[in-house]
Amino acid sequence: MRRARLVCPCCDGATSGRREVIRAALGLAAGGLACLAASPAALAQANGGAARRLFIQRVQTGESFNGTYWNEGRYDREALRQLDWLFRDPSMEEATPMDPRLFDLLHSVAQRLDASESFQVISGYRAPETNAARAQTSRRVSRVSLHMSGMAADVRLPGRDSMGMARLAAEMQIGGVGLYRRDGFVHLDCGPARRW
Ligand SMILES: [Zn+2]
Repeated sequence: MRRARLVCPCCDGATSGRREVIRAALGLAAGGLACLAASPAALAQANGGAARRLFIQRVQTGESFNGTYWNEGRYDREALRQLDWLFRDPSMEEATPMDPRLFDLLHSVAQRLDASESFQVISGYRAPETNAARAQTSRRVSRVSLHMSGMAADVRLPGRDSMGMARLAAEMQIGGVGLYRRDGFVHLDCGPARRW
């Protein structure tokens, strides 16, 4: 692994292709988007029936979200809209409807870690142009990334060991988990369960 590589080279997703880009104004309904691989039963079991909250901070912009995004059996559309914008590609100022089950995955990981601190999001949605540019300069950047499908995030929890978080997330078996320990972050996605 290399230093200062805040790009996830991982996530060779066979499931990419969905691109529903909305610039600036996000008037979308993301709740119906299908997560292609994470098991709904596993996620439901992991999350239980209680309201689901997230505490997220975006590294590049300093913006944050701290609130409930799912309650009484449904996703809160306004909360999802805010999260979609938070997880945008900051270099392009471009957002996409994120797969909400990525948020469930983050929520589950935070719960299992009993974490009250915010996730720091290093990378969320990645515009194809951004990904292509990075792939040109590094062979380690996948040209087909689940980041481009709004299904992946590179995150860290301040004060927490990235290896511990990656191990726990992998044990949950509800998505992809990549450990970038030297860079201090973990890639999480709601694609097929796998680990690297
Ligand atoms: Zn990643």
